[in-house]
Amino acid sequence: MNEIRFDTDLIERYGGRGPRYTSYPTAVQFHDGFGETEYRRQCAASNEGSERRPLSIYVHLPFCESLCYYCACNKEVTRNRARVERYMTHLYSELDLQAALFDDTRVVEQLHLGGGSPTYFDTDELGELIRRIGERFRLQSDGNQEFSIEVDPRTIEPEGMAPLYALGFNRLSLGVQDLEQRVQEAVNRVQSFAKTRDLIDAARASGFQSVSLDLIYGLPHQSVASFDATIDRVLTLKPDRLAIYNYAHLPQMFKAQRLIDAADLPDASAKLEILHGTIAKLTAAGYEYIGMDHFALPSDELVVAQNKGELQRNFQGYSTHARCDLISLGVSAISHVHHCYSQNVKSVNRYCQLLEQGHLPVERGLELSDDDELRASVIETIMCHGRLDFAAVAQSFGLDFGDYFGAELEALAPLADDGLIKFDDAGFEVTPAGRLLLRPVAMVFDRYLREEANKARFSKVI
Ligand code: SF4
Repeated sequence: MNEIRFDTDLIERYGGRGPRYTSYPTAVQFHDGFGETEYRRQCAASNEGSERRPLSIYVHLPFCESLCYYCACNKEVTRNRARVERYMTHLYSELDLQAALFDDTRVVEQLHLGGGSPTYFDTDELGELIRRIGERFRLQSDGNQEFSIEVDPRTIEPEGMAPLYALGFNRLSLGVQDLEQRVQEAVNRVQSFAKTRDLIDAARASGFQSVSLDLIYGLPHQSVASFDATIDRVLTLKPDRLAIYNYAHLPQMFKAQRLIDAADLPDASAKLEILHGTIAKLTAAGYEYIGMDHFALPSDELVVAQNKGELQRNFQGYSTHARCDLISLGVSAISHVHHCYSQNVKSVNRYCQLLEQGHLPVERGLELSDDDELRASVIETIMCHGRLDFAAVAQSFGLDFGDYFGAELEALAPLADDGLIKFDDAGFEVTPAGRLLLRPVAMVFDRYLREEANKARFSKVI
């Protein structure tokens, strides 16, 4: 499954816009007919016998000290501590309301702090957050838990790693993006290689099991040679996982990106060359291609899970714990509990207001139909494993695959003719040349994309 072949022609033909499928249906389908009442009903049902799953908690901490110009996250750049404290007070109110919805015997296997910059907060503040979560939920502590935090290397010192580990975190992801000074200055995110290296060394010495680094290609002033140099230096750090994201320049949607001069961006063919060189370098260095933008060492549990056919996908990307009910706290956070998605309001003021009125701050969401659940499973299988076994789907969902997916099988035929997939006796497999194009294969099974207008709302596949 992990073999990968770079085919420029196929990428140019199939690399249009498409969802990342961290959920299906995607957030585009969420609507305001779904609210607090519907979310509460789904949570209650999730506690029932045969449907009970372990829990995963995500906390969105939306504050940053400075603005990275490429950023498309829901964040607030502020030094106004009163505002930050107000947010945390209301986050704790949401924690109390959410905890009351779940049977207290359910175990939290996975915890993730994202943002914004979670390390905007010091260890005492993060400790208070973890203490409160631990008071309200049963946190797993047998060594199999996955508690992770996103780290901005500019906001924490190496001495801060041991205290983070002592709080219970055992995985971290570090935003690096690019190591060249000129690129860093153009996106207003200057951080030294030495700092990143020292943080990783300190994290490993403290006991962190997995270190993941994020890089971005397509940033201003990047060239094949400059990104190659970044990758060379990154490889000396031996990260367990690497995420290599494609920068999508959408200044009309993301205000921060207006601070980037489009004339400084590498063009589409340079970006493809950068990607090509990066994949060649990472695979030669022993990294396995997981899918989408993710690479990992063969010892990493993502690779192990993929080899066992157990890899899953959720809002944090690829995961080994996606079968949990996901409870997400904070502005814009999306929960996935039982048969629903539920998204919180995006504005901090509205979030606080709703909680002051005693409401869960749900803005919109979606109850999944049987068809949604079926297609979600098919799409996740393609995104995680690059193959589909028709009989397995038929058996799991009690249907005749050919009858149900007749139109999709027809739509797959040209992809097979073009060499993205290969049919076999059991179903089909994505070819090494199709591995970078998992999204267009999965999109065949996306009922909502039949409305062509929806495609325009997503980023480019490559
Ligand atoms: S990239 Fe991260 S640190 Fe930078 S502004 Fe966005 S959320 Fe904040």
